[in-house]
Amino acid sequence: MGRKVLIGRTFGIGTFIGSRSYADEVEGVHPNIEVSRIKKDPDPSIQVRNLANKFGAATLGLRNLRGLLLSQNTTKDARFSSTSTAAQNKFDVVIVGGGIVGMATARELIMKHPNMTFAVLEKEPNLAAHQSGHNSGVIHAGIYYTPGTLKAKLCVEGFLMSYKYFDEKKIPYKRCGKLIVATNSDEVKKLDEIMRKGVENKVPGLEIVDAAKIKEIEPYCRGLKAVWSPNTGIVDWGLVTNYYAKDFKELGGQIFNNFPVSGFSETAESSNNDENSHCIRVTGAKGQEVRAQYVVTCGGLQSDRLAQMSGCSIEPKIVPFRGEYLLLNPAKNHMVNGNIYPVPDPRFPFLGVHFTPRMDGSVWLGPNAILAFKREGYGYTDVNLTDLLDAIRFKGFRKLALKYVGFGVSEVVKSIFISKQLKELQKFIPDIDASDIRRGPSGVRAQAMDSNGNLVEDFVFDSGSGPLSKRILHCRNAPSPGATSSLAIAKVIADKMKNQFNF
Ligand SMILES: Cc1cc2nc3c(=O)[nH]c(=O)nc-3n(C[C@H](O)[C@H](O)[C@H](O)COP(=O)(O)OP(=O)(O)OC[C@H]3O[C@@H](n4cnc5c(N)ncnc54)[C@H](O)[C@@H]3O)c2cc1C
Repeated sequence: MGRKVLIGRTFGIGTFIGSRSYADEVEGVHPNIEVSRIKKDPDPSIQVRNLANKFGAATLGLRNLRGLLLSQNTTKDARFSSTSTAAQNKFDVVIVGGGIVGMATARELIMKHPNMTFAVLEKEPNLAAHQSGHNSGVIHAGIYYTPGTLKAKLCVEGFLMSYKYFDEKKIPYKRCGKLIVATNSDEVKKLDEIMRKGVENKVPGLEIVDAAKIKEIEPYCRGLKAVWSPNTGIVDWGLVTNYYAKDFKELGGQIFNNFPVSGFSETAESSNNDENSHCIRVTGAKGQEVRAQYVVTCGGLQSDRLAQMSGCSIEPKIVPFRGEYLLLNPAKNHMVNGNIYPVPDPRFPFLGVHFTPRMDGSVWLGPNAILAFKREGYGYTDVNLTDLLDAIRFKGFRKLALKYVGFGVSEVVKSIFISKQLKELQKFIPDIDASDIRRGPSGVRAQAMDSNGNLVEDFVFDSGSGPLSKRILHCRNAPSPGATSSLAIAKVIADKMKNQFNF
């Protein structure tokens, strides 16, 4: 397998060794980082030396570039001190959730309001610990989404803004394109509808291609016809989150990790009706407290619970769905140039099992969709009874499960016996056999649904109607393509704050 990488990454269940070219790329664009190469895998650790001595002179045993940025983003972030006085911990705006949407929002708000004080509260020790660090890494172009929805609009805006941002910051990415491949005549008919939506959504560069052109783009892929999207790409969204955090901190924002927010309440100050008072008390489960004039929450898998803490309704409810990936045998990575997707089943919000090349050179196949037994549970053994009962007791989930019982059972069977997924993969690349696939990482989707069992597809923002509603805005649903759309979602949130709160 030749020389292996320097960039390892921990992703839920293990360490992945990236490609030599990714290392070269990282080294090329980050001259202050020295990456030492390891000849033998699988050594999970890499040595990263910060030559500029900007963040400490010691050689750091970090797992990847994201890890390096992350250390920049946490070491100087004073862990929240319970001895700090409330006065020290007053901020104009507090953003809860250090995923990509929370960090993009924090960055946007601080750029717009440089004279105000901002803090991000994140319950985990690292940023991008959940969905933002556990996803397919695709820069979506906005093809499938229902025209006129926020999702359709913000995805297209978001991907254009993202490419510009990556170029400015020299973040490694690949505009490797995407084929949505029809393998039978029924699927061929559906391509026209996909194309129609893409054109209506103003996705640039789309075309329908025939079998010969499919072969030209992806020599190992078989198909009758396909939609070709040349502007779809790949990036490490966890890394991007940490870049947003770096921008935020450089503008004076503070990030408090290990701060699991457990409640919002009004302080006595609020009853004085003093517009300048910091009248929202934000408490943490570890005894922490900060005060704020305004709060935005971007809680991903916990977004419904955070909304309920300020008096919002239970709906849309979040039900966690785990998406497991398989890894392609590295010897066959050359068979996949860009993203290869199936024609999606319009009944589901998931785009189907796809072939996705990663920035580290590996190829992921997946993800599937099965109920997770814990909101942030990445394997079958991760069980949280509260989370599990919460999902099962929810009427909407039971209705959904009944409606799609066949689909659900088949997903579980395929998850347990991975060889059952082979046939689906071979429809696209027949040269893959059972020995070429092995279990890979997984992510958990925050799937929002209503009590009738309808999946909520669009982005949802909510302030509720209680006493705190004039000062709190919750981002309750930011599913895929939430990472791609993050810069555009952040602008929407900033506008909403302005309009709703006269901010
Ligand atoms: C399997 C999978 C594949 C995907 N693929 C893609 C893709 O290819 N392209 C794409 O654009 N999108 C993709 N997505 C969607 C994308 O990852 C999400 O839309 C995006 O990451 C959502 O970001 P977020 O910040 O809202 O949520 P998250 O990243 O989940 O962040 C929420 C944060 O809030 C914190 N938090 C929660 N509760 C509290 C609390 N009480 N106190 C403090 N902090 C709290 C959490 O710890 C977490 O860090 C995928 C998602 C999944 C799961």
